[in-house]
Amino acid sequence: MLGAALLSASRSPRLRRTLVAAPVTRRVVDRFVAGEQLPAAMAAAGHLVSLGLMVTMDHLGEDVTTVADATTARDAYLRAVDAIGAVGLGSAAELSVKLSAFGQALPGGHDAALANVEAVAAAASDAGTTVTLDMEDSTTVDSTLAVLRSLRTRHPGTGGVLQSYLLRTPDDTRALAAEGSRVRLVKGAYREPPDTALQDKRAIDRAYEQCLAILMAGPGYPMIGSHDPRMIDCAQRLARTYGRAADSFEFQMLYGMRPREQQRLAGLGYRTRVYLPYGTDWYGYFMRRLAERPANVLFFLRALTTRA
Ligand SMILES: Cc1cc2nc3c(=O)[nH]c(=O)nc-3n(C[C@H](O)[C@H](O)[C@H](O)COP(=O)(O)OP(=O)(O)OC[C@H]3O[C@@H](n4cnc5c(N)ncnc54)[C@H](O)[C@@H]3O)c2cc1C
Repeated sequence: MLGAALLSASRSPRLRRTLVAAPVTRRVVDRFVAGEQLPAAMAAAGHLVSLGLMVTMDHLGEDVTTVADATTARDAYLRAVDAIGAVGLGSAAELSVKLSAFGQALPGGHDAALANVEAVAAAASDAGTTVTLDMEDSTTVDSTLAVLRSLRTRHPGTGGVLQSYLLRTPDDTRALAAEGSRVRLVKGAYREPPDTALQDKRAIDRAYEQCLAILMAGPGYPMIGSHDPRMIDCAQRLARTYGRAADSFEFQMLYGMRPREQQRLAGLGYRTRVYLPYGTDWYGYFMRRLAERPANVLFFLRALTTRA
């Protein structure tokens, strides 16, 4: 209930204005967002890498409404690729991109988003790193998977994301469980109707485990995007069952979420990557984090009542 209300609220311009302007919000946002500018994000990335973790950097922004904004988003990513290349972090730091930030929803947006992300993927290849295409709401899945297929013909390291709550995902998983294919499996963070997505948490978890089994049995590179101890156990079990080498899959968690668990997994020798968002346009990302976990809302409410 609360989650659904928060996901609706994430679309409210009025609430957005109020929350973004509230000083207390900033303190809470800092827990989930690694800074507003690239230097702060690079410092956070360097710190995590020094702890034995890897990162995927997300320049926050989505739902752009003009071509100029899409170009601005692309250029922000090109600067991030430059920064990663300049400090030689290419083997440990990659980029996560939302195609809506690259103009996907504009008229002719599919081609515009492809052209924008192509520029970033090409620069990333030159810098020795990769791009992963985040998955957004269900109306964008066909376009995003088509962009992924196209990019992979030129930049085979490009990764994609599948959401276990979508009814179509088992089919998409089988299609993507191919040689060299990097697939991040998540549960899904958007509000979707019952004819499109599972609504029951247990059913979503079961679907996650089924899709994960398909990925772990296949020849691709699964990326387990979850903080859920049950999904993490399941991945470890499947890795043993299929005799997977430690470098043939990775765990991924969001910045500020279960940081001790991130380090524990890295300490056990698992490749573990932190999804590191940065930038000024943090509202939609922040609201989805509140929506998926009551403890995050409590943390926010506590911050509202304390001055420290
Ligand atoms: C790296 C990464 C990338 C993502 N990319 C996308 C994307 O492209 N598209 C998309 O739609 N969604 C994305 N998501 C979000 C995802 O879809 C889920 O909404 C989100 O991860 C919550 O699901 P969960 O599996 O982490 O655990 P949940 O189902 O939220 O929680 C299950 C259980 O895990 C434990 N748990 C969860 N979080 C915590 C915590 N912070 N501290 C302690 N215990 C915890 C609790 O026991 C909880 O009951 C991404 C998530 C990650 C981690």
